[in-house]
Amino acid sequence: MPDPPLLPMASRLLAQLPGLRADPQMALLGELKALPPDDAAEVALQILEHMDESTGVLAGMTCANLVAEHGKEGHLPRLEAARQRVPPFPGLRDWRRDVGDAVEALQALAKKRCRCSATRTSNTAPSEKLFETLSSKAEDYVDVMEVRCRHCGCTYQVERDDSYHYPTFSWR
Ligand SMILES: [Zn+2]
Repeated sequence: MPDPPLLPMASRLLAQLPGLRADPQMALLGELKALPPDDAAEVALQILEHMDESTGVLAGMTCANLVAEHGKEGHLPRLEAARQRVPPFPGLRDWRRDVGDAVEALQALAKKRCRCSATRTSNTAPSEKLFETLSSKAEDYVDVMEVRCRHCGCTYQVERDDSYHYPTFSWR
């Protein structure tokens, strides 16, 4: 099956994002996040399929997170193909892991499980769109949060550890 034609918004963002500093990038990506969820997932997936080094890590991460949150099981083959070709960017942690997390979220859907079951293994922060924070308290060196999936109601305990250069998260 051929890939769907590039949506006008995807081609516009792919043309505009390169070279922008963080603030205008955030404004453009905010437009993408404001789309209805199905449209946001399709445009975000198309950007992942067509982006290159010039598009930037911020756009890549935002799009990966949108696909993880709103993508459908049917997006999985295209997302897996995109993961093979998205560009690396130097950084503290490899941003392509976010694309891997999105793949896992859609794989969970394919197995008829809630996408939140994939988040548990990701070591990333709980997404506000996917999870409601029930409580948060500081314990010794970590913040312990209780979060609940907005979709299936499963609750998880998440520890946020700030003792490294950047926060790390562990899920239970
Ligand atoms: Zn869930």
